[in-house]
Amino acid sequence: MTAEVPGGGADGAPRRLVSYVLPVYNEEAGIREFHARLVAATRARPDLDFRFVYVNDGSRDGSLAVLRELAASCPEVRVVDLSRNFGHQMAITAGYDQAPGDAVIVMDTDLQDPPEVSLELIAAWEAGAQIVYAQRRSRRDTLTKRLTAHAYYRLLRRFADIDIPVDTGDFRLTDRTTTDLLRSHRERNRFVRGLVASLGFEQVAVPFNRDERVTGQTNYPLTKMLRLAADGVTSFSTVPLKLITRLGLVTVVIALLGIVYALGVRLFLPEISVPGWTLLMIVVLFLGGVQMLSLGVIGSYVGRIYTEVQARPLYVVQEVIGRDHGDEPARG
Ligand code: UDP
Ligand code: MG
Repeated sequence: MTAEVPGGGADGAPRRLVSYVLPVYNEEAGIREFHARLVAATRARPDLDFRFVYVNDGSRDGSLAVLRELAASCPEVRVVDLSRNFGHQMAITAGYDQAPGDAVIVMDTDLQDPPEVSLELIAAWEAGAQIVYAQRRSRRDTLTKRLTAHAYYRLLRRFADIDIPVDTGDFRLTDRTTTDLLRSHRERNRFVRGLVASLGFEQVAVPFNRDERVTGQTNYPLTKMLRLAADGVTSFSTVPLKLITRLGLVTVVIALLGIVYALGVRLFLPEISVPGWTLLMIVVLFLGGVQMLSLGVIGSYVGRIYTEVQARPLYVVQEVIGRDHGDEPARG
Protein backbone atom coordinates (compact mmCIF):
# COMPACT_ATOMS: atom_id res chain seq x y z
CA MET A 1 0.00 0.00 0.00
CA THR A 2 1.42 3.38 -0.87
CA ALA A 3 0.62 6.90 0.18
CA GLU A 4 -0.63 9.70 -2.01
CA VAL A 5 2.45 11.83 -1.73
CA PRO A 6 3.17 14.48 -4.35
CA GLY A 7 6.10 13.60 -6.54
CA GLY A 8 6.80 10.13 -5.21
CA GLY A 9 10.33 8.80 -5.17
CA ALA A 10 13.06 10.45 -7.22
CA ASP A 11 13.07 7.55 -9.64
CA GLY A 12 9.27 7.52 -9.84
CA ALA A 13 9.03 4.34 -7.73
CA PRO A 14 6.17 4.40 -5.21
CA ARG A 15 7.28 5.65 -1.80
CA ARG A 16 7.05 3.23 1.08
CA LEU A 17 4.93 4.03 4.08
CA VAL A 18 5.84 3.14 7.66
CA SER A 19 3.31 3.50 10.51
CA TYR A 20 4.00 3.80 14.20
CA VAL A 21 1.55 2.33 16.71
CA LEU A 22 1.90 4.37 19.89
CA PRO A 23 -0.11 3.33 22.98
CA VAL A 24 -0.70 6.17 25.41
CA TYR A 25 -1.89 5.84 28.98
CA ASN A 26 -1.47 8.85 31.25
CA GLU A 27 1.55 10.21 29.38
CA GLU A 28 0.43 13.87 29.36
CA ALA A 29 3.75 15.14 30.72
CA GLY A 30 6.05 13.44 28.27
CA ILE A 31 4.10 12.96 25.07
CA ARG A 32 5.09 16.25 23.38
CA GLU A 33 8.77 15.58 23.91
CA PHE A 34 8.27 12.03 22.67
CA HIS A 35 6.54 13.20 19.50
CA ALA A 36 9.20 15.83 18.82
CA ARG A 37 11.97 13.25 19.17
CA LEU A 38 10.13 10.72 17.02
CA VAL A 39 9.54 13.25 14.24
CA ALA A 40 13.17 14.39 14.46
CA ALA A 41 14.34 10.79 14.17
CA THR A 42 12.16 10.04 11.15
CA ARG A 43 13.50 13.12 9.34
CA ALA A 44 16.63 11.07 8.75
CA ARG A 45 14.59 9.12 6.21
CA PRO A 46 13.04 11.64 3.80
CA ASP A 47 12.63 8.83 1.27
CA LEU A 48 9.93 7.21 3.42
CA ASP A 49 6.44 8.35 4.41
CA PHE A 50 5.37 8.05 8.01
CA ARG A 51 2.13 7.87 9.95
CA PHE A 52 1.92 8.16 13.73
CA VAL A 53 -1.08 6.29 15.10
CA TYR A 54 -1.52 7.22 18.76
CA VAL A 55 -3.92 5.03 20.72
CA ASN A 56 -5.26 6.79 23.79
CA ASP A 57 -6.01 3.91 26.13
CA GLY A 58 -8.52 5.66 28.38
CA SER A 59 -5.99 8.05 29.92
CA ARG A 60 -7.24 9.82 33.03
CA ASP A 61 -4.97 12.84 32.61
CA GLY A 62 -4.82 15.40 29.80
CA SER A 63 -3.16 13.05 27.29
CA LEU A 64 -6.09 13.21 24.86
CA ALA A 65 -6.00 17.02 24.70
CA VAL A 66 -2.29 16.93 23.94
CA LEU A 67 -2.86 14.29 21.27
CA ARG A 68 -5.60 16.45 19.68
CA GLU A 69 -3.08 19.29 19.48
CA LEU A 70 -0.53 17.01 17.85
CA ALA A 71 -3.14 15.83 15.34
CA ALA A 72 -4.07 19.41 14.55
CA SER A 73 -0.49 20.52 13.95
CA CYS A 74 0.94 17.40 12.34
CA PRO A 75 -0.92 15.87 9.38
CA GLU A 76 0.80 12.51 9.83
CA VAL A 77 -0.74 12.03 13.26
CA ARG A 78 -3.85 9.98 13.77
CA VAL A 79 -5.38 9.50 17.21
CA VAL A 80 -7.50 6.51 18.11
CA ASP A 81 -9.35 7.24 21.34
CA LEU A 82 -10.55 4.14 23.17
CA SER A 83 -13.63 4.56 25.35
CA ARG A 84 -11.86 3.35 28.49
CA ASN A 85 -8.63 1.70 29.61
CA PHE A 86 -8.41 -1.61 27.75
CA GLY A 87 -4.80 -2.31 28.67
CA HIS A 88 -1.52 -2.09 26.80
CA GLN A 89 -2.02 -5.24 24.71
CA MET A 90 -5.49 -4.17 23.53
CA ALA A 91 -4.22 -0.67 22.77
CA ILE A 92 -1.54 -2.19 20.54
CA THR A 93 -4.17 -4.34 18.85
CA ALA A 94 -6.38 -1.31 18.19
CA GLY A 95 -3.33 0.45 16.72
CA TYR A 96 -2.54 -2.49 14.44
CA ASP A 97 -6.11 -2.34 13.15
CA GLN A 98 -5.74 1.34 12.25
CA ALA A 99 -2.16 1.45 11.01
CA PRO A 100 -1.67 1.75 7.23
CA GLY A 101 1.50 1.15 5.30
CA ASP A 102 4.14 -1.35 4.30
CA ALA A 103 5.52 -1.79 7.80
CA VAL A 104 4.20 -1.14 11.30
CA ILE A 105 6.34 -0.29 14.33
CA VAL A 106 5.01 -0.55 17.90
CA MET A 107 6.71 1.64 20.49
CA ASP A 108 6.16 2.81 24.06
CA THR A 109 5.47 6.53 24.33
CA ASP A 110 7.42 7.16 27.53
CA LEU A 111 10.78 7.41 25.68
CA GLN A 112 11.95 4.12 27.15
CA ASP A 113 12.10 2.83 23.60
CA PRO A 114 14.39 5.39 21.93
CA PRO A 115 12.78 6.63 18.68
CA GLU A 116 16.16 6.52 16.93
CA VAL A 117 16.29 2.73 17.34
CA SER A 118 13.18 2.39 15.16
CA LEU A 119 15.34 3.48 12.21
CA GLU A 120 17.49 0.41 12.81
CA LEU A 121 14.35 -1.72 12.77
CA ILE A 122 13.44 -0.14 9.43
CA ALA A 123 16.94 -0.85 8.09
CA ALA A 124 16.63 -4.52 9.07
CA TRP A 125 13.22 -4.65 7.37
CA GLU A 126 14.67 -3.11 4.21
CA ALA A 127 17.37 -5.76 4.35
CA GLY A 128 14.61 -8.35 3.98
CA ALA A 129 13.34 -9.24 7.47
CA GLN A 130 9.57 -9.48 7.89
CA ILE A 131 9.60 -9.30 11.68
CA VAL A 132 12.20 -7.25 13.53
CA TYR A 133 12.17 -7.02 17.30
CA ALA A 134 14.22 -4.76 19.51
CA GLN A 135 16.06 -6.67 22.20
CA ARG A 136 17.13 -4.97 25.41
CA ARG A 137 20.85 -5.00 25.95
CA SER A 138 20.45 -3.14 29.22
CA ARG A 139 17.59 -1.58 31.11
CA ARG A 140 17.58 1.32 33.49
CA ASP A 141 14.55 0.47 35.60
CA THR A 142 14.08 0.01 39.32
CA LEU A 143 15.63 -3.10 40.86
CA THR A 144 12.25 -4.79 41.49
CA LYS A 145 11.22 -4.10 37.90
CA ARG A 146 14.47 -5.60 36.62
CA LEU A 147 14.24 -8.65 38.87
CA THR A 148 10.59 -9.38 38.10
CA ALA A 149 11.15 -8.86 34.37
CA HIS A 150 14.15 -11.19 34.49
CA ALA A 151 12.22 -13.91 36.31
CA TYR A 152 9.26 -13.38 33.99
CA TYR A 153 11.21 -13.95 30.78
CA ARG A 154 12.92 -17.05 32.15
CA LEU A 155 9.61 -18.44 33.37
CA LEU A 156 8.02 -17.88 29.99
CA ARG A 157 10.88 -19.52 28.19
CA ARG A 158 10.55 -22.57 30.42
CA PHE A 159 6.81 -22.96 30.40
CA ALA A 160 5.58 -21.66 27.07
CA ASP A 161 5.40 -24.12 24.20
CA ILE A 162 6.72 -21.49 21.83
CA ASP A 163 10.10 -19.81 21.82
CA ILE A 164 9.59 -16.26 23.02
CA PRO A 165 12.89 -14.38 22.70
CA VAL A 166 14.35 -13.29 26.04
CA ASP A 167 14.31 -9.56 26.92
CA THR A 168 12.06 -8.40 24.14
CA GLY A 169 8.98 -6.32 24.78
CA ASP A 170 6.46 -4.92 22.38
CA PHE A 171 8.97 -2.71 20.55
CA ARG A 172 8.97 -4.33 17.12
CA LEU A 173 8.42 -3.91 13.41
CA THR A 174 6.18 -6.14 11.33
CA ASP A 175 5.68 -5.86 7.59
CA ARG A 176 2.22 -5.69 6.00
CA THR A 177 1.89 -9.46 5.65
CA THR A 178 2.81 -10.33 9.22
CA THR A 179 0.80 -7.38 10.57
CA ASP A 180 -2.29 -8.68 8.80
CA LEU A 181 -1.61 -12.17 10.15
CA LEU A 182 -1.35 -10.73 13.66
CA ARG A 183 -4.62 -8.90 13.15
CA SER A 184 -6.33 -12.15 12.26
CA HIS A 185 -5.71 -13.40 15.82
CA ARG A 186 -8.75 -12.20 17.73
CA GLU A 187 -8.33 -14.03 21.06
CA ARG A 188 -9.00 -11.86 24.07
CA ASN A 189 -6.41 -12.90 26.63
CA ARG A 190 -3.78 -11.36 24.45
CA PHE A 191 -0.08 -11.66 24.78
CA VAL A 192 1.01 -9.96 21.59
CA ARG A 193 4.73 -10.80 21.77
CA GLY A 194 3.81 -14.47 22.15
CA LEU A 195 1.54 -14.24 19.11
CA VAL A 196 4.37 -12.64 17.14
CA ALA A 197 6.80 -15.38 18.17
CA SER A 198 4.26 -18.05 17.19
CA LEU A 199 3.81 -16.54 13.72
CA GLY A 200 7.12 -17.90 12.54
CA PHE A 201 8.85 -16.12 9.65
CA GLU A 202 12.41 -14.92 9.87
CA GLN A 203 12.63 -12.83 13.02
CA VAL A 204 15.59 -10.52 13.41
CA ALA A 205 16.77 -8.97 16.69
CA VAL A 206 18.17 -5.45 16.96
CA PRO A 207 19.88 -4.87 20.34
CA PHE A 208 19.34 -1.55 22.12
CA ASN A 209 19.74 0.12 25.51
CA ARG A 210 16.43 0.72 27.21
CA ASP A 211 16.22 4.15 28.79
CA GLU A 212 14.57 5.34 31.94
CA ARG A 213 11.03 6.64 31.85
CA VAL A 214 11.20 10.41 31.21
CA THR A 215 8.14 11.37 33.23
CA GLY A 216 5.48 9.69 35.31
CA GLN A 217 5.73 6.14 36.52
CA THR A 218 5.27 2.67 35.18
CA ASN A 219 1.73 1.63 34.34
CA TYR A 220 2.76 -1.94 34.93
CA PRO A 221 2.64 -2.48 38.68
CA LEU A 222 3.35 -5.98 39.99
CA THR A 223 -0.29 -7.07 39.76
CA LYS A 224 -0.51 -6.18 36.05
CA MET A 225 2.85 -7.84 35.42
CA LEU A 226 1.64 -11.03 37.10
CA ARG A 227 -1.53 -10.99 35.02
CA LEU A 228 0.48 -10.54 31.84
CA ALA A 229 2.82 -13.33 32.94
CA ALA A 230 -0.14 -15.62 33.59
CA ASP A 231 -1.62 -14.76 30.18
CA GLY A 232 1.74 -15.53 28.63
CA VAL A 233 1.92 -18.95 30.21
CA THR A 234 -1.71 -20.06 29.88
CA SER A 235 -2.02 -18.71 26.32
CA PHE A 236 0.82 -20.80 25.05
CA SER A 237 1.15 -23.76 27.33
CA THR A 238 -0.79 -26.46 29.09
CA VAL A 239 1.95 -27.00 31.67
CA PRO A 240 -0.36 -26.11 34.62
CA LEU A 241 -2.81 -28.79 33.48
CA LYS A 242 0.00 -31.31 33.07
CA LEU A 243 1.26 -30.54 36.59
CA ILE A 244 -2.20 -31.28 37.97
CA THR A 245 -2.25 -34.59 36.13
CA ARG A 246 1.12 -35.48 37.66
CA LEU A 247 -0.01 -34.41 41.10
CA GLY A 248 -3.03 -36.64 40.65
CA LEU A 249 -0.82 -39.62 39.84
CA VAL A 250 1.37 -39.03 42.91
CA THR A 251 -1.76 -38.75 45.04
CA VAL A 252 -3.05 -42.07 43.78
CA VAL A 253 0.25 -43.77 44.61
CA ILE A 254 0.27 -42.32 48.14
CA ALA A 255 -3.36 -43.33 48.63
CA LEU A 256 -2.56 -46.91 47.55
CA LEU A 257 0.32 -47.09 50.04
CA GLY A 258 -2.02 -45.75 52.75
CA ILE A 259 -4.56 -48.45 51.98
CA VAL A 260 -1.90 -51.18 52.19
CA TYR A 261 -0.75 -49.76 55.54
CA ALA A 262 -4.29 -49.58 56.91
CA LEU A 263 -4.98 -53.19 55.82
CA GLY A 264 -1.68 -54.36 57.36
CA VAL A 265 -2.48 -52.78 60.70
CA ARG A 266 -5.95 -54.26 60.63
CA LEU A 267 -4.71 -57.81 59.82
CA PHE A 268 -1.52 -58.03 61.86
CA LEU A 269 -1.89 -55.52 64.75
CA PRO A 270 -5.58 -55.88 65.81
CA GLU A 271 -4.73 -54.83 69.39
CA ILE A 272 -4.36 -51.15 68.33
CA SER A 273 -7.71 -49.42 68.78
CA VAL A 274 -9.43 -47.60 65.89
CA PRO A 275 -6.61 -48.31 63.50
CA GLY A 276 -6.10 -46.02 60.54
CA TRP A 277 -8.33 -43.20 61.70
CA THR A 278 -5.55 -40.59 61.53
CA LEU A 279 -4.41 -41.86 58.17
CA LEU A 280 -7.99 -41.80 56.92
CA MET A 281 -8.38 -38.18 57.92
CA ILE A 282 -5.10 -37.24 56.24
CA VAL A 283 -6.08 -39.02 53.05
CA VAL A 284 -9.53 -37.42 52.98
CA LEU A 285 -8.17 -33.95 53.64
CA PHE A 286 -5.35 -34.37 51.15
CA LEU A 287 -7.66 -35.58 48.41
CA GLY A 288 -10.06 -32.76 49.17
CA GLY A 289 -7.24 -30.27 48.81
CA VAL A 290 -5.98 -31.70 45.55
CA GLN A 291 -9.48 -31.71 44.13
CA MET A 292 -9.98 -28.10 45.06
CA LEU A 293 -6.70 -27.18 43.40
CA SER A 294 -7.62 -29.10 40.26
CA LEU A 295 -10.99 -27.42 40.11
CA GLY A 296 -9.24 -24.08 40.35
CA VAL A 297 -6.99 -24.76 37.40
CA ILE A 298 -9.77 -26.28 35.30
CA GLY A 299 -11.90 -23.32 36.26
CA SER A 300 -9.34 -20.87 34.90
CA TYR A 301 -9.36 -22.63 31.54
CA VAL A 302 -13.15 -22.80 31.55
CA GLY A 303 -13.11 -19.08 32.25
CA ARG A 304 -11.01 -18.51 29.16
CA ILE A 305 -13.40 -20.61 27.07
CA TYR A 306 -16.26 -18.57 28.47
CA THR A 307 -14.85 -15.17 27.55
CA GLU A 308 -13.78 -16.51 24.15
CA VAL A 309 -17.30 -17.80 23.47
CA GLN A 310 -18.85 -14.49 24.46
CA ALA A 311 -17.11 -13.00 21.41
CA ARG A 312 -17.49 -9.40 22.50
CA PRO A 313 -15.67 -6.74 20.51
CA LEU A 314 -12.04 -6.63 21.60
CA TYR A 315 -12.16 -2.88 22.19
CA VAL A 316 -14.40 0.04 21.43
CA VAL A 317 -13.09 3.01 19.48
CA GLN A 318 -14.76 6.21 20.49
CA GLU A 319 -13.31 8.42 17.81
CA VAL A 320 -10.58 8.49 15.19
CA ILE A 321 -8.95 11.89 15.00
CA GLY A 322 -6.77 13.09 12.17
CA ARG A 323 -6.89 13.54 8.47
CA ASP A 324 -8.39 10.78 6.37
CA HIS A 325 -5.62 9.69 4.04
CA GLY A 326 -7.77 7.04 2.44
CA ASP A 327 -5.18 4.52 3.53
CA GLU A 328 -7.03 2.66 6.28
CA PRO A 329 -6.50 -1.07 6.15
CA ALA A 330 -9.54 -3.20 5.41
CA ARG A 331 -11.66 -4.12 8.41
CA GLY A 332 -10.34 -7.20 10.17
N1 UDP B 1 0.05 1.64 28.32
C1 UDP B 1 -1.23 1.55 27.77
N2 UDP B 1 -2.25 1.04 28.56
C2 UDP B 1 -2.03 0.61 29.83
C3 UDP B 1 -0.72 0.66 30.36
C4 UDP B 1 0.31 1.19 29.57
O1 UDP B 1 -1.46 1.92 26.63
O2 UDP B 1 -2.99 0.17 30.49
C5 UDP B 1 1.16 2.20 27.48
C6 UDP B 1 2.00 3.29 28.12
O3 UDP B 1 1.50 4.58 27.85
C7 UDP B 1 3.36 3.09 27.47
C8 UDP B 1 3.40 1.59 27.21
O4 UDP B 1 2.05 1.14 27.23
O5 UDP B 1 3.47 3.76 26.24
C9 UDP B 1 4.23 0.83 28.24
O6 UDP B 1 3.73 1.10 29.54
P1 UDP B 1 4.72 1.35 30.76
O7 UDP B 1 5.79 2.32 30.37
O8 UDP B 1 3.89 1.72 31.93
O9 UDP B 1 5.33 -0.08 30.97
P2 UDP B 1 6.85 -0.44 31.34
O10 UDP B 1 7.72 0.30 30.36
O11 UDP B 1 7.06 0.02 32.73
O12 UDP B 1 6.92 -1.92 31.18
MG1 MG C 1 7.72 2.26 30.14
